[in-house]
Amino acid sequence: MERIQALCRNFLWEGEDTYSKAPLVVWNVLRQSKEHGGLGIIDSKLWNIAAIGKLVWWLASKQDHLWIKWVNNIYIKGASWWQYEPTNYSSRAWRKICAVKNTMQAGYVQGKWRGIDGAYTIADGYKWLLQVPAEKVTWYKIVWNRYNLPKWNFIMWLRQHHRLLTLDRLGKMGMGVPSLCFICGLDSEDHDHLFIHCWFAKQCYHLAADWLQMSVDVLSSCGNILKYRCSMLIRQVCMAAVVGISYGIWRCRNLCRLERYVIHPSKLVAQVQQDCKRRVSSMFSGCMNRIDKEWCRSAGLI
Ligand SMILES: [Zn+2]
Repeated sequence: MERIQALCRNFLWEGEDTYSKAPLVVWNVLRQSKEHGGLGIIDSKLWNIAAIGKLVWWLASKQDHLWIKWVNNIYIKGASWWQYEPTNYSSRAWRKICAVKNTMQAGYVQGKWRGIDGAYTIADGYKWLLQVPAEKVTWYKIVWNRYNLPKWNFIMWLRQHHRLLTLDRLGKMGMGVPSLCFICGLDSEDHDHLFIHCWFAKQCYHLAADWLQMSVDVLSSCGNILKYRCSMLIRQVCMAAVVGISYGIWRCRNLCRLERYVIHPSKLVAQVQQDCKRRVSSMFSGCMNRIDKEWCRSAGLI
């Protein structure tokens, strides 16, 4: 299971089965759901524990099962299951089941799975083991919006975690690199500068604001887009435009780093507009209300 997990992790970061660098985002975050800031990758080790947890629950709820009767006769012998400890002579599999019982004991109480009526599912046990944060991240609807191109999502997800390798991060990692923004050369390059304060980003948001008939303030802040009162389609297209622009800014920055060449912001925004148009036309086939239709027409999306 460790090997399978390592293969998944390596493939994510390198596209290969080996990866020797420090990952940009830690495994504990990757395995959380998208709503909680992760990628929803299943942790097979935790899932295995949760699956064994089902046997623990069977024993606790005294299910009518031949194996349960056998275990009760051979091992438990009428003792309380929750207090029961295996002996050194017990089989390895049995000791493993008892270890899972001890690991998950608090979960059976918190999840109300203990007792006759408490229904346990492996998915419930897995969520408890995962220690899902109480709060969802506010930006998951933007990162995983259905109008985004898949290649945009990943860069936007890294941006939200402040995990793109900007010059300030490389500096903190001890790499002796210059810190000035590759695009403008005026300020040190960090996430906020690159995606919000740099003249290039500002210019992109201004052009997108004209294109989408939306204010720059709304477009340049994820929180403002989510709060903005408009139809779902308009909001989702605006969110997709922002994610597309973020992806474009990161590509432009990398191009500038490698080739000392800055594309014009209008070219970037025109590309995003074209991509959004393709997404809108592939998802809607005439079933759009009048206001959305007019807005899409004036934004050049249909
Ligand atoms: Zn800059």
